[in-house]
Amino acid sequence: MIAWHEARAKVLGACAALPPASVRLGDARGSVVADAVTAREQVPPFDNTAMDGFAVRAADTVHAPVELEVVGTLAAGAAPSVPVGAGEAVRIMTGAPMPQGADAVVMVERTTAVGDGRVRIEVAAEPGDHIRPAGDDLEPGHVVVAPGAVLGAAHLGVLASVGVTDVTVYPRVKVGVMSTGDELVQGAALLRPGQIRDSNRPVLLALVAEAGCVPVDLGSIRDDEGSISAAIESGVARCDAILTSGGVSMGDFDYVKVVLDRVSDDMEWMQIAIKPAKPLAFGTIRAGDRRVPVFGLPGNPVSSMVSFELFARPALRQMMGHPVLDRPTVSAVADDGFPRRPDGKTHFVRVAARFEPDGRCHVRSSGGQGSHQLAAMAAANALVVLPDGDGVGPGAAVQAMLLTEPVTGGVAPLGG
Ligand code: AMP
Ligand code: MG
Repeated sequence: MIAWHEARAKVLGACAALPPASVRLGDARGSVVADAVTAREQVPPFDNTAMDGFAVRAADTVHAPVELEVVGTLAAGAAPSVPVGAGEAVRIMTGAPMPQGADAVVMVERTTAVGDGRVRIEVAAEPGDHIRPAGDDLEPGHVVVAPGAVLGAAHLGVLASVGVTDVTVYPRVKVGVMSTGDELVQGAALLRPGQIRDSNRPVLLALVAEAGCVPVDLGSIRDDEGSISAAIESGVARCDAILTSGGVSMGDFDYVKVVLDRVSDDMEWMQIAIKPAKPLAFGTIRAGDRRVPVFGLPGNPVSSMVSFELFARPALRQMMGHPVLDRPTVSAVADDGFPRRPDGKTHFVRVAARFEPDGRCHVRSSGGQGSHQLAAMAAANALVVLPDGDGVGPGAAVQAMLLTEPVTGGVAPLGG
C-alpha cells in the first residue's frame, strides 16, 4: 500500500494545465485567468456626482444658508450643457457628469426649494463634496484581473466596466464518465435477482460538473472487453480526461483492468492506504499529441466519491489552472469521538459538520460508514481525516475536509 499523498503526487504529476484559450465573458464564470487583463480606460470615465442634489461652487456656500439660482437639470446619461456660474446651481442626479464651473455637490436633503427657480443651500459645501473623480476606481494600465484569479461575479463586473468582452482562461476540462458492471440497471426498471441500480454515473457526472468541468456521459458499460474498449476509445477521442467506475479490483470479471493495461503505457494499479477507496488505477492514454488522463475509480459508491475527492478533483482543477487544488480543511471538535482500530490506513469518516456558537466546527458521524452506504455520504458535508491508530475520544480535535459550504448553527446573522 502507498500513502495517499504519494498517490496524489503521482496523479498530479501527469495532469498538466490545458492550453489557455479566449472565451466570452458570459462563459468565463469560475474559470481561471491565464493572461493578465489591464484597463485601457478610466473608470469612472468622467467626474460625476455620488448623490442626487445640486452642483454648486463651494465658495458660494461658505455663508450658508444661501440662495442660488437653478440654471439647469442634469440626469445620468446626459452631457452637461449649462456651466455653473457664480450664484448659480444645477439640479443633478446620481451618476450625472459634473457641469463646468461646479466643484461640489450638496445633497438634496440639505436644500429647500424656494420657488421662482431658486434653491436654498442649508449647509456649506467643501470643494470635492460628493464628487467621484474620473479614474477613482481604475486608471489605464491598472491590472484588472491577474493570472490565477478565479473569475467570480465581481471580476466579470470589473472586466465589463472597462469594456473587456473576452478573456484568456484555462478551458474547462471535458471529462468522460462511464460506469461498468453486468449488475447495473438504469432508472426505475424492475431489479432482477443480482441486479442493483447504477448510482456512480449520476454521482460522478455531478461531481465533475460541480468541479467546473464539462461532464460527458460515456454510458453504463457491460463487463465485456470489447464494450469497455470501445467506450474508452470514444471517450479518449472526445474528452480531456476519463473517469471509470468499477472493475479495477481483484474480481474475475474486472475487464477495465485488462483494457486499460492494453491501451495505456503507464497505467499504475495502486493500493492506497486509505479507507474507503483502497484501489485506484491511474494512467494516461495517448491520442495524437495529447495524453488523456484516465482514473479507474473503485466501484463501491462511497469509495468512488472519496477517490474522486482525493485524486481526480485536484487533478482536474490543476488541468484548469486552479491555484488551490484541495477542499478546505478545518480543525473540528469530534463531539462523540471516532473510535477505530489500527490497520495501516487513514480513514475518511463521513460526518455532518456544523459551526457552533463557540466559533468552532463540530463534527458527528452522518451514519453507516460502509463503502456501499451512500445514504451517510449524502447526509455528510465533510470528511474527517482519521490517521491510523485507535481513533479519538469525545471532544478531541480532528481535521475535517469540507465538501460543501459549512452549516452554521445558532450564530446571529450578520448585522442581526
Ligand atoms: P467492482 O469494483 O466492479 O468490483 O464493484 C465493487 C462494488 O461496487 C460492487 O458491489 C458493485 O456492484 C458496486 N458498483 C460498481 N459499480 C457501481 C455503480 N455504477 N453504481 C452502484 N454500485 C456499483
Ligand atoms: Mg464490477
